[in-house]
Amino acid sequence: MEAVVNKNAKLPETEEGTILFNVDPIIIKHHYEVDYIHSYAQDSPFFAGLTKKKLLGSRCVCCGYKYATPRGHCMECGSKTEWFELPLRGKVHTFTTCYFGSEAFLKETPFTLILVEFDGVDTLFMSRLIGTEPDEVRVGMPVHARFLRNCKFKPTDVYFVPV
Ligand SMILES: [Zn+2]
Repeated sequence: MEAVVNKNAKLPETEEGTILFNVDPIIIKHHYEVDYIHSYAQDSPFFAGLTKKKLLGSRCVCCGYKYATPRGHCMECGSKTEWFELPLRGKVHTFTTCYFGSEAFLKETPFTLILVEFDGVDTLFMSRLIGTEPDEVRVGMPVHARFLRNCKFKPTDVYFVPV
């Protein structure tokens, strides 16, 4: 029995193109996706705090310097820090309006990023401000923290609104 042969067989062509960034050497765009198992390690209490609608900062056990973010050791004196609860109310220290962002935030542009200043705390906390138009944000504006009800264990679980 003779084999069936089709010498004109072809793979189907697709209409999608390839974005070429350079010719010599050839550099193309290639989608790449990976699941990444990430440990928050010593910062874990901060993310656990977000699930309880609490913002945790770090205070130096030696010099008392207060950080508005997780920090294992003091940048001033090198000593260990301990957790303390930040107030949920602060004020806008500075802000910027983002008209572009990474893929996760692109749909939400333009959005406002703020650095929040808390009474008695030595550093600032970066977050999103919603509930006001970008051109209405002012330095010194009082703001209040809000938390996502369905926590994703990400820094974006907390955001701020005007008081
Ligand atoms: Zn210190």
